[in-house]
Amino acid sequence: MKLNHQKLALRIKAGSLAAVLLMGLGLGFSTPAGAADDKQQQLENEKAQAQQELDDINAQIQENKDNIANAQAQQSALQTQSNLITQQINILIEQISNTQAQIVEKQDQVDQKQAEMDARWEDFKDRMAAMQEINDRGGIAILSQATNLYELLTFNQTLQDISEKDNEILAEMDAARKALEEEKAALEEEQARLEDQQAQLDSKKGELAQNIQQLDKDISAEEAEQRANEQAAAVARQKLNEAAEALDAYIRSQNQGYEDVIFNTSMGFISPLPSYKYVSCQYGDDGHKGVDWAALGGTPIYAAADGVVTISTYHYSYGNYVQVYHGADTDGNTFATLYAHMQSTPVVAVGQKVTQGQLLGYVGSTGNSTGNHLHLELRVNGNRTNPLNYIPKPSVVKYS
Ligand SMILES: [Zn+2]
Repeated sequence: MKLNHQKLALRIKAGSLAAVLLMGLGLGFSTPAGAADDKQQQLENEKAQAQQELDDINAQIQENKDNIANAQAQQSALQTQSNLITQQINILIEQISNTQAQIVEKQDQVDQKQAEMDARWEDFKDRMAAMQEINDRGGIAILSQATNLYELLTFNQTLQDISEKDNEILAEMDAARKALEEEKAALEEEQARLEDQQAQLDSKKGELAQNIQQLDKDISAEEAEQRANEQAAAVARQKLNEAAEALDAYIRSQNQGYEDVIFNTSMGFISPLPSYKYVSCQYGDDGHKGVDWAALGGTPIYAAADGVVTISTYHYSYGNYVQVYHGADTDGNTFATLYAHMQSTPVVAVGQKVTQGQLLGYVGSTGNSTGNHLHLELRVNGNRTNPLNYIPKPSVVKYS
């Protein structure tokens, strides 16, 4: 394949690029080893903190809701209790009313009995007065009125009988009146007992009403807190959205190479090293899939062309290494370079755009290596190819 060495402006499409990277290069993306992106980390922390704040507020809102539901359930239970007590009180009020009616009735009966006794007593007094009058007159008047002795004796006897009968009747009536009064007293006692029960129930109902009222206050307070929390949640949600957007915007800016942007890719590769000692292992020797350039440890390694870093990590065999994807030329052939055995963690991160000649790391001997050298690989359309067919050797030879 003939390569156009002129500088090309290549439009890299995000979708096709990802597919090419994964399939063509035969290697997936890796997290940049150690090359911590402080700015990204900071934005991620801010987002996580905003999320945590929102979660905390939402947890409080849930607690508010639980408390309100709980208080309402308590209220409902208390209200049911209060309703039952009201029913009991109504029954008692009816009983008291009945008892009062009975007491009034009983009092009427007592009064009636008393009136009877009073009437009887008046009769009795009249008769006694009449008898007294007869006695005072020494029975002459009676005698003069009586037609015979028998009549007189009978009259006296009758008076006595009447007196005894009166006494008896009065005693009976008095007993009846007393019995009625006792019954009335018992009813009054019953009424007092019922009233006492009612008072207790009234007191209990009052207590329940107070508890229900207190719960009303609790619910109002909880609802006010919930409203405040919901306002705080709206603010926190806004803050989280902003943090998420800031992070997204940053990641987008860092990964521009993956997006629908234009960057200049030169297929006029330059040597990735400013100097070297010699080629220590050629491409194809014993299945070697790259070229080894022995060089002094710490020699800077540069990007051979513009591109995007697709790998920046440590590998047991490659050691610290970087892969750069350079996009496609006008014929649609894609190119990627790989730089292995770097002395330390690469200075570039995955997703980072690099320009030709930009520092990637330093020559070292990490991974499967016996001395300081750069193991350079070139992939054309994903297939490893001899780099020396495309990439010039360093112009300077330097042994120390
Ligand atoms: Zn090698």
